[in-house]
Amino acid sequence: MARLGIYSRMVMLALAVASGWIAPAWAEDAAAPVQGVILVDICSARRDHMSGFGYDRPTTPNLDAFMNEATVFERAWAQSAWCLPNFATLLTGARPEVHQQLNSGDARPQPVDGLETLAGVLQQAGMATGGFSASRFLGDSYRFLQRGFDLFVNLPDPEVPADQALPFEQRLPAILEWLRTHREQRFFLYVTVDDLHAPYRAADPKLFDPAYAGFFDEVSPSVKFDRLYNGEPVSEPEPKLVAAVEEFRRDERHQRHLVARYDASLHHVDRLMGTFFDELKQLGVWDTSLVIVTADHGEQLGEHGLLGHTQALYEPILGVPLIIKHPALAGGGRNTQLVERIDIPATVLDAAGIAPSEHPQFTGDSLMPILEGRSVAWKSHIFASSKPTRMGVSDPLDWSIEERAVRDARYKLLWHSYKEQPYELYDLEQDPAELHDLVLDRPEVFQQLKARLDAYASDGGMELPVEAPAAAGVLPTMLPAGRAAQPAH
Ligand SMILES: [Zn+2]
Repeated sequence: MARLGIYSRMVMLALAVASGWIAPAWAEDAAAPVQGVILVDICSARRDHMSGFGYDRPTTPNLDAFMNEATVFERAWAQSAWCLPNFATLLTGARPEVHQQLNSGDARPQPVDGLETLAGVLQQAGMATGGFSASRFLGDSYRFLQRGFDLFVNLPDPEVPADQALPFEQRLPAILEWLRTHREQRFFLYVTVDDLHAPYRAADPKLFDPAYAGFFDEVSPSVKFDRLYNGEPVSEPEPKLVAAVEEFRRDERHQRHLVARYDASLHHVDRLMGTFFDELKQLGVWDTSLVIVTADHGEQLGEHGLLGHTQALYEPILGVPLIIKHPALAGGGRNTQLVERIDIPATVLDAAGIAPSEHPQFTGDSLMPILEGRSVAWKSHIFASSKPTRMGVSDPLDWSIEERAVRDARYKLLWHSYKEQPYELYDLEQDPAELHDLVLDRPEVFQQLKARLDAYASDGGMELPVEAPAAAGVLPTMLPAGRAAQPAH
């Protein structure tokens, strides 16, 4: 029954793409299929804190060097606000409204057995497929996202809380061992790097703020800290944590330190990437593989009064890095086309010699024409969305809430189900920090983008009926208990 629903939505989406967006055609003169694909997903990496994207701290020297030999997408968007929907979009090629991976509770994941997976399609094409992650959202409860991988290793660290993952350094030997075994074959390697997720692991947490002394010496950044600060529901917060949040609000040097701490962690991750890249070169796969570095989502570091990535579709969350090196193509430098995370799986298929059009579930647009430097009509709008937990189930601690965003080359419209003023309009060229709402000042732009967002809500499946799960009699989740309506800014 659920499968029929999913396919219905897929067909709707395919029609929407065919009628509204211009998808690049499968090109006869495309580059030869790559031997290997190495896809690296750095959880919580925001683009604008990378030195190669103009940040003023030297956070990412190794990734900056990688950017020099790759094509760098400067306007890439995540598909949603947090890990699970973004992982699911990458691994199924479908939008959140289709794959429906929205629920934050490990106890009740809703499988997506009716969907193909990127790894499955590549496996069918004869490629060896390996996945390595320490994210809880790719763990045992979400095995359906591991379908198609010959080997999927997810190693939670039993010694640390669930929101802290096993360090990449400790996971690297297994990744390299797998590559060593499969490097002569065609292969697809998917790796998540989880060290940048709160609590922002770093070799030297004070690298960029050595003089700091304060509560962050004892209280680590955490999801619980973020949620408490954001005013989201938190079960039984410790008095020490409540006091830390109050102190955080009182003295802004703590926020400056939080930013420095995030940057130190990003610097740490960049060093790990440098080591990983060196190993790839040693193994001889660097020059034969499509290498992609991206992030599932970014991180709020105080902008708009928010921390973490539990809500909001502002640029700190949606603005993710996307850096692609194709082994047969010269680095294309900087690209400002509007691209989305959903375009990555279509690109991988295309680069591997599989026409994305043969797999209509993959509704993103292949970036291969851009990598090849071909002149191609490209989409004029990109979208992102978050939804509450799956329909029909109430979860007072669920942190996924309903909001949508659309942008064109210049403007961005946000819609939130939970704010008194549901719309916000920003000129990203003049106001990249999204501080000056233009809904009233630019009514024509507002109406144009609102029409796009309304069409997305319809085409994307948001308005389509979703089969209620077995928990009959439970009202659909609206705003989680305790989450007050927020002002527009
Ligand atoms: Zn994440």
